[in-house]
Amino acid sequence: MDCLKELEGDVKITVKVKRSVWVPSPVIIGAGPSGLAVAACLKERGVPSLILERASCIASLWQLKTYDRLRLHLPKQFCELPLMPFPPNFPTYPTKEQFLAYLEDYARRFDVNPQFNESVITAEYDQNLGFWRVRTAGLKNEETEYICQWLIVATGENAEPVLPEVDGMRDFVGPIVHTSCYKSGEIFREKKVLVIGCGNSGMEVCLDLCNYNAHPSVVVRDTVHVLPREMLGRSTFGLSMCLLKWLPIRFVDLLLLFVSRFILGNTAHLGLNRPNLGPLELKSISGKTPVLDVGTLAKIRDGNIKVCPGVKRLKGHMVEFVDGHEGDFDAIILATGYKSNVPSWLKDRDLFSEKDGMPRKPFPNNWKGESGLYSVGFSKRGLLGASMDAQRISQDIAHCWNQASHRLSSIPPQFP
Ligand SMILES: Cc1cc2nc3c(=O)[nH]c(=O)nc-3n(C[C@H](O)[C@H](O)[C@H](O)COP(=O)(O)OP(=O)(O)OC[C@H]3O[C@@H](n4cnc5c(N)ncnc54)[C@H](O)[C@@H]3O)c2cc1C
Repeated sequence: MDCLKELEGDVKITVKVKRSVWVPSPVIIGAGPSGLAVAACLKERGVPSLILERASCIASLWQLKTYDRLRLHLPKQFCELPLMPFPPNFPTYPTKEQFLAYLEDYARRFDVNPQFNESVITAEYDQNLGFWRVRTAGLKNEETEYICQWLIVATGENAEPVLPEVDGMRDFVGPIVHTSCYKSGEIFREKKVLVIGCGNSGMEVCLDLCNYNAHPSVVVRDTVHVLPREMLGRSTFGLSMCLLKWLPIRFVDLLLLFVSRFILGNTAHLGLNRPNLGPLELKSISGKTPVLDVGTLAKIRDGNIKVCPGVKRLKGHMVEFVDGHEGDFDAIILATGYKSNVPSWLKDRDLFSEKDGMPRKPFPNNWKGESGLYSVGFSKRGLLGASMDAQRISQDIAHCWNQASHRLSSIPPQFP
């Protein structure tokens, strides 16, 4: 809490008051789907938990930073959280509102009540004490220190937008917005919009812009795999998961590419060259997700969306591309993705890499570190991966929690 101390001569100064709170149960950082999933799994095993969330709501990425037309990219059976399926009347690809309603129900059902507006600024293991010290800043910058035995990182692979530096960015006349701020194409009617980035979000934003009679162009700097969202009467993702149980990844990739070619034609003719590695192999090695086409390709084919190479520099309304050609644009949308923010606050370099804020060890060994540190939702496997992490973590912690030794360690330490 902020204390305003009135001093002589009516001068006011702000004094930060630091609270220390001993938490005998696990502390979870982040109230997105991963944080909710691990809290529910712990509860199911009789272990309470405390969630610290920087936003004022659950699932802030979905509530605050996504566009209106968003639906789950993957079929619902691959996106449900542990212990509670989606309602049977939900469509195969639930809308953002439906997914959020499901998450609200989920939190209610497992009585998960995060502490909102608490942004974790540092978390450090105190070797002398044998506990984690987690410092948070509240809305008025008041500081609290939580001391706990188990720390679960659930801040997500998408915690902060990636904002590239483009030469002349400050000179561009017109809005430049990241997809995390894009809601719909309404405000871009009849405008020429350059979308930088051709992942699932970039491709879908282009389609949305077309639906609002804007004139989008998409920057495709690199190679990209575009697959139909459905093939052979099933979801491409579901079919891949099924085939991978029986066949080697390279064979499944060949099959996906063969059927994609049949349905979508040669994407290279549209300026979308495929990587040398197949879509599933590339995903497993680099985490790069293939684009699941929801209609963008047809708009590219019809000439409603133009494909451009990388951007060299911006000036006024003008964009110069790396191949030398130039174009005028009214606005730029950065569909340049997100990154983890873990290195900015976690003072532990064993579980998470300092470079990209992702676990050093690949799936399935990504969820557990030393000294009671865990990670959920960082396997590059979407909500399905987060559910698997949540189950493993809850099992591991419940095992300790139920041991006699925990009763001793739950005595509050004498912290300075
Ligand atoms: C547009 C889009 C569509 C997607 N579609 C799918 C899909 O269909 N299927 C799928 O499986 N995955 C999908 N994903 C992947 C997505 O990452 C997951 O859906 C999901 O949101 C991940 O949940 P999470 O809890 O791990 O992370 P997040 O949802 O990002 O939640 C992390 C939470 O941690 C909080 N936080 C961050 N830093 C701090 C801090 N320092 N202190 C306190 N709190 C903090 C954030 O405010 C946030 O609420 C999509 C992602 C995007 C961007």
